Amino acid sequence: MIRLYVTDDLTAGQAIVLPEGQAHYLRHVMRLAGGDQVLAFNGRDGEWRARLEAVGKRGAALALEARTRAQTLGPDLDLVVALVKRARLETIVEKAAELGARRVRLAITERTNAERTNAQRLSAIAAEAAEQTGRLDAPQVVPPEKLDRLLADWPADRPLMFCDEAGEAPPALEALAGQSGGPWAILIGPEGGFSPAERARIRGLPQAVPVSLGPRILRADTAAISALTLWQAALGDLKRA
Ligand code: SAM
Repeated sequence: MIRLYVTDDLTAGQAIVLPEGQAHYLRHVMRLAGGDQVLAFNGRDGEWRARLEAVGKRGAALALEARTRAQTLGPDLDLVVALVKRARLETIVEKAAELGARRVRLAITERTNAERTNAQRLSAIAAEAAEQTGRLDAPQVVPPEKLDRLLADWPADRPLMFCDEAGEAPPALEALAGQSGGPWAILIGPEGGFSPAERARIRGLPQAVPVSLGPRILRADTAAISALTLWQAALGDLKRA
């Protein structure tokens, strides 16, 4: 059944008028008709079965029928990624949704060479990817922040898996061994890498856990996918509960 990420509260008997884009998607792309069923979720109220109601020529609304799953959330995992070129950044956001990141934070670094970023489009990409995965939330995409600022306000209780390609860090699984789950973040640098000053600043953070993702230099999107998978395998929901 088609799954839709919505922002409205979800309660029994409620009707939700869908935004134009989602109405078009259901009626004209997926060719659903009035009476057809979909699943809706919003990251707060669980997953609900809903009946589609056609509204005029183009519009659509959902009539909520019953909750099908209670709300659960995956690990409290942030992906902090330096801005990279648009297509690669969109891939990173999509994969972050598939691999269970709860939030994607965009960082402006010294060697950031990215054009303007459309956080709204990235949020739509995150929601669409979340719809495919079966998860009951969609990653929040936080608009770009300067790396310095982001590090200055770093929460004391959130360890930072610093993906450092400079070769001085232990392999990721070794570095994560013996660590506990709970809130974590993963940091991925720009195509040009972090500057020496940024590297020293990150390594100076008490919460920083430098890791190597292997002997080869990976593109930022490959590094993000690899790091998310390794973290989930070591401390997340890829490990047997
Ligand atoms: N500065 C690098 C260079 O050109 O030599 C490339 C940076 S790489 C394209 C982008 C980011 O991916 C890096 O800043 C790092 O966070 C991560 N990364 C890539 N390969 C890695 C590796 N083997 N170990 C750890 N992190 C890696």
